[in-house]
Amino acid sequence: MIEANRLSQVQYAENFSDIHPPFETKDAALVEANRCLFCYDAPCMKSCPTSIDVPKFIKQIATENVKGSAHTIFSSNIMGAGCSKVCPVEKLCEGACVYNFMEEEPISIARLQRYSTEKAMSANWQLFKRKESTGKKVAIVGAGPAGLSCAHVLSREGIDVTIFEKENKGGGLMTYGIAAYKVTPQFCEAEVNYILGIGGIEIKYEQELGKNISLTDLQKEYDAVYLAIGVGLARQLEIPGEELEGVEDAIKFIYDIRDKGFDKVAVGDKVAVIGMGMTAIDAATQAKRLGAKEVTMLYRRTKEEMPCTQHELDIAMLDGCEIIWLASPKEIKGVDGKVNEIICSIMKLGEPDASGRRSPVDTGETFSLVVNMVIKAAGQMPFEALVDEFKIQNSKGKINITDSATNIPGVFAGGDCVNGGKEVVDAVQAGKDGAKAILDFINKNQNH
Ligand code: SF4
Repeated sequence: MIEANRLSQVQYAENFSDIHPPFETKDAALVEANRCLFCYDAPCMKSCPTSIDVPKFIKQIATENVKGSAHTIFSSNIMGAGCSKVCPVEKLCEGACVYNFMEEEPISIARLQRYSTEKAMSANWQLFKRKESTGKKVAIVGAGPAGLSCAHVLSREGIDVTIFEKENKGGGLMTYGIAAYKVTPQFCEAEVNYILGIGGIEIKYEQELGKNISLTDLQKEYDAVYLAIGVGLARQLEIPGEELEGVEDAIKFIYDIRDKGFDKVAVGDKVAVIGMGMTAIDAATQAKRLGAKEVTMLYRRTKEEMPCTQHELDIAMLDGCEIIWLASPKEIKGVDGKVNEIICSIMKLGEPDASGRRSPVDTGETFSLVVNMVIKAAGQMPFEALVDEFKIQNSKGKINITDSATNIPGVFAGGDCVNGGKEVVDAVQAGKDGAKAILDFINKNQNH
């Protein structure tokens, strides 16, 4: 049966409480900061896509200069607060910390980062001053991490920025596509407001490129345009039964949990989740935490090839999710229009594909699972039609860029719409790169 309101409010609150709780006391943060060896040529810093000066900000915490440490973090990553909650740190900074080689716990870099950035946000320390307005205007499409990061750098340089966002909230996938036990909608809203605190950035909501706004108009009205449109459409399984009641897209499921509230989102007794990326994990764990009795994750490759991190997999397993490797959905069956079974092909691994990953090959054998809900998290597709419409050079919908510039003069792009969907921290760096390229472009045009 698929139903909402399976648990008590107390159980919901428990199941969706902060998965990485902050330091309880200032002393706890100081003790952790003082464990840091402040390494020369620090590997933690090198493995951060935004190159946050980790030893510097930890030293600043250790010397009780919290404001300074927040400034160090935000100088490199204006979404440093959100990233401290959602970054896969086990494969980035914390995974690179030298303590791992000594077989000791790495420094809790994310928690320390959270410690100072949350203080900065709650006290509304505005740590950057916007330069005097240059009179130049830039349009950004998309208020996700890439768009916001680009906007903040441009605004610091005195550019007037207008962001056009198709949803009615900013934050992009951070707001719409991440499990509620990692970041809350309230936090995402506070983070967007904190970023806008610098001034010079206006967000126009419910403005969609190709619908309410056109690229041609933006080009006419602005000195440059930055496309940070992300990836949006859920990849279809293209198997029979996909239209049955009870088949849902993971992003929509995750979004509904955040938007409607835990008790309003219906979940099945027995749920199958297709995919093994971060979105699949977020959907599976949340289905379990909403009260599903059995959640089975199906992945067509093996653990070696899974896109999520071991840490994420551990969360799913600790939540009691079952994993079936080498299983590819073949057909969803239903009764009275509602899902009641999923048939899967048993796969084996064949030769590596272009990306170097071994491709799954159908063995011809199948198995079936009794389920009443199927959540699809088999990836998202870029906005192919949109980029085609505007004649932006792309490969399979991913926008091609050279130093953030597209093939259309004055139009730049970055984030998921270019890389096909990476981490929030990668999008933040792309936004910084985009802003730098736009500033160079505007300066060059000014001197001609
Ligand atoms: Fe500190 Fe670890 Fe980074 Fe060294 S690698 S500076 S110990 S966090």
